[in-house]
Amino acid sequence: MSTGLLRERKNGFDGIGEQSKAEIYSFCEEYKDAITKAKTEREFCDLSVELLEKAGFKNLAEVSSLSAGDRVYAINRGKGVTAFVIGSEEIENGLNIVGAHIDSPRLDLKPNPLYEDGGMGYFKTHYYGGIRKYQWLNIPLSLHGVIIKKDGTKVEVNIGEDLSEPIFCIADLLPHLAQNQSTKKLSEAFEGEKLNVIVGNIPADVDKDKVKYAVMNSLNEKYGICEDDFVTSELELVPAFPARDVGFDKSMMLGYGHDDRACGYTALRAIIETKNPKKTAVCMLVDKEEIGSQGNTGMQSRFFENTLARICDKCSTQYSELKLRNCLSNSACLSADVAAAYDSNFAEVYEKGNASYINEGIVLTKYTGARGKSSASDANAEFVAKVGKIMDDAQVKWQCAELGKVDIGGGGTIACYLANLDIEVIDVGVPLLAMHAPYEVAGKFDVYMAYKGYKAFMNS
Ligand code: MN
Ligand code: MN
Repeated sequence: MSTGLLRERKNGFDGIGEQSKAEIYSFCEEYKDAITKAKTEREFCDLSVELLEKAGFKNLAEVSSLSAGDRVYAINRGKGVTAFVIGSEEIENGLNIVGAHIDSPRLDLKPNPLYEDGGMGYFKTHYYGGIRKYQWLNIPLSLHGVIIKKDGTKVEVNIGEDLSEPIFCIADLLPHLAQNQSTKKLSEAFEGEKLNVIVGNIPADVDKDKVKYAVMNSLNEKYGICEDDFVTSELELVPAFPARDVGFDKSMMLGYGHDDRACGYTALRAIIETKNPKKTAVCMLVDKEEIGSQGNTGMQSRFFENTLARICDKCSTQYSELKLRNCLSNSACLSADVAAAYDSNFAEVYEKGNASYINEGIVLTKYTGARGKSSASDANAEFVAKVGKIMDDAQVKWQCAELGKVDIGGGGTIACYLANLDIEVIDVGVPLLAMHAPYEVAGKFDVYMAYKGYKAFMNS
């Protein structure tokens, strides 16, 4: 923040020097590569485990006791991972946690997705998370996920990322025939039930369902599956775009799922580079935030508490429930999630003095919620001060903001579920333009500040 009497705003690249800029751009090359490669929670979990193991982290299940400096991780059903670096202080003194989510808005296949109509093969979808439906029409989509076959084997699907592979799409209505649609309200013009994805067109030589049969036949040849196997699958359609630079100055990046891998990846890098902290450092990457953190892979699950119980047990010769409870009560957390950056094209939804701006640093969001702070986890001023000082001491540039104008809308993060565990928590993350769009905009300076800030917090 500012040292003077009044708060000042400044672009982080302003006067930064060539060397620091090169460092930021180089970090962001690795970031773009990671989010292009790992687009779903399962893929990002796998990538995280790969990077953690490379950095000497071991699977908690295979470790019998823990002492200062030890590095372990626990996987939650292939969709989330929590990594720990054991501190020199007693675990009872609490943890420094950075928690992000690794699921992003997308289109999931329905359990019974395949059909044909008008000579065309389609997949029916059920959208996941808060999307603006029209944005998902006429863009290249790739298919990612798993199919569990009857014999229990798991088939991994990833098709449409390589230029040699086909992609999928939802065809939009031509303007010539859109007269009626164009006069409808946006919320009514695009229906969830019409987000049907084109998957094939050549008919098979059978009596009926010719295209459907042909599509199923090609899937059977490729993956050895029958139509029934869709029920035991989790298949997700995501934008087939790679992350790329934006602007002549390449100061920003367009990418799918900056929300929330801009925070997830940087938190992961931060824990990997954390060695021998005083307090036990934790990087938590969770699933299902975009649909309310429900389910056993979401933040509302007791997975974290259960894992922490095992950590406490392995840290101590005399495990007790009280030690676990004390550990939670003494913990602090950055809920690492993205913020809505000010967009001059939609100035009417922001309040300029309490908005965040691209490349002006990571955003401390004291509270989220909507309509009178409803459902907000409002961070305690004492804790905001503590986090602000950690950032200042580490020369991490930060800004503070609300999501938008009062009563315009709102949102939530995993912060409230950590607060329920009696942990001090505040949202700290990267500001984005076009959040939840298939292609979101993030600033390189902000992504780098997230990495530096999370590292400073884990080591505080
Ligand atoms: Mn998010
Ligand atoms: Mn989101």
